[in-house]
Amino acid sequence: MGTSRQGKITGCILVVMGKISEGARFGLEPGRIYLDWNATAPLRASAREAWLEAGAVGWANANSLHREGRIAAEFLTRARETFASTTGTSPGEWVFTSGATESIHAAILGCAAARPTRRRIVTSLGEHAVVRSVLAGLEGQGWEIVRVGLGPDGAWSAQEVLDASHPETTGMVSLIWASNETGAVSEVEEVAKELRRRRIPLHLDAVQVPGRIPFGLSVVPATFASLSGHKFGAPKGVGALFIRRAAPWTRWMAGGEQERGRRGGTSNVAGIHSMATALAEAVVADVSAWNPLRDDFESRVLARVPGSHRVGGGVRLPQTSALRFDGVESSALLLRLDDLGIAVSSGSACTSGRTDPSPVLLGMGLTSGQAHQTIRVSFGDGTIPSDLDLLLDRLVQEVPALRGS
Ligand code: PLP
Repeated sequence: MGTSRQGKITGCILVVMGKISEGARFGLEPGRIYLDWNATAPLRASAREAWLEAGAVGWANANSLHREGRIAAEFLTRARETFASTTGTSPGEWVFTSGATESIHAAILGCAAARPTRRRIVTSLGEHAVVRSVLAGLEGQGWEIVRVGLGPDGAWSAQEVLDASHPETTGMVSLIWASNETGAVSEVEEVAKELRRRRIPLHLDAVQVPGRIPFGLSVVPATFASLSGHKFGAPKGVGALFIRRAAPWTRWMAGGEQERGRRGGTSNVAGIHSMATALAEAVVADVSAWNPLRDDFESRVLARVPGSHRVGGGVRLPQTSALRFDGVESSALLLRLDDLGIAVSSGSACTSGRTDPSPVLLGMGLTSGQAHQTIRVSFGDGTIPSDLDLLLDRLVQEVPALRGS
């Protein structure tokens, strides 16, 4: 671990002051290992270059009619074309946003407003906090929210979703494609095709998908899909929403007429150009080595750390492992690993300085105690096998030590 680092922990917030070595992998301090890609992926070199390029020459307001404005607008046109060509969609079906949190609000609230007489929304217990809270808000206004449970593998059941979705009553279905917590990948293709046949709009939280598993919206014909740039190597504060042509949707937030009247606010040209560059690179990257790397890591953990368990199973993101250790609080393990130079994540949601057990893990049938014992390891391109070897050695050492302490 870098000696210049001084850490201070305030509730759930880790404030780190330290020198960043420019030459190090992903700009990490020397000796650090980053295994929390599902929280944020490091900025891709190509995305950083694109950001600088658009920042240098495309800084004008893309809605201005003058030449400088048109240069900025050209970056947006190209970005929309990239989103379309990488996903099998049309450029006009993409709206650029400030991130998935905004995209999810826009998709759900915009579709609910467009179908006010069908007041049932079907979702799952595996959703990210944003979807959970937007739907809880609608529930408070009298909408019926049907939450389909998860199997022990962490996936929602396609059959249960379809059984709950009736064309006369269901305004929309909102589902997570791949879980940020366990990596579970549910059967979106079958559900998307059947819901299209029933003419029920489907919103997919696809945030964890690009660059990890195939991301094609012609193969998976969802009506809406939400993305966040920083999960695939773009900067934070930029995202996208796919709105299929002729989808039932009305604009949810007042403001200017940017994004063809579908979103107000001056466009983040540099961020959007950077995000499109990152997406184009992420979706063609060779990730075939990840699954075996992850499986090998998991089987060595299970063999060498007594009382260890894999959380979830079945079809999963190739670079995500959720692991549980009997008798060990994930927050204590996370902080111990952090002291030893390794960044992972815990299975607990950090809310107002309090750690609640993850509703997703509870939804899979874990007890609150078990949910508090779960850590998430997630990696990406640039992770090397020795990163996971070192983590394994640390787990072998630290898990029994924490149990004894
Ligand atoms: N959905 C999923 C599955 C996520 O993992 C995240 C981020 O953690 C979000 C939505 C929200 O994304 P953002 O915070 O970038 O708006």
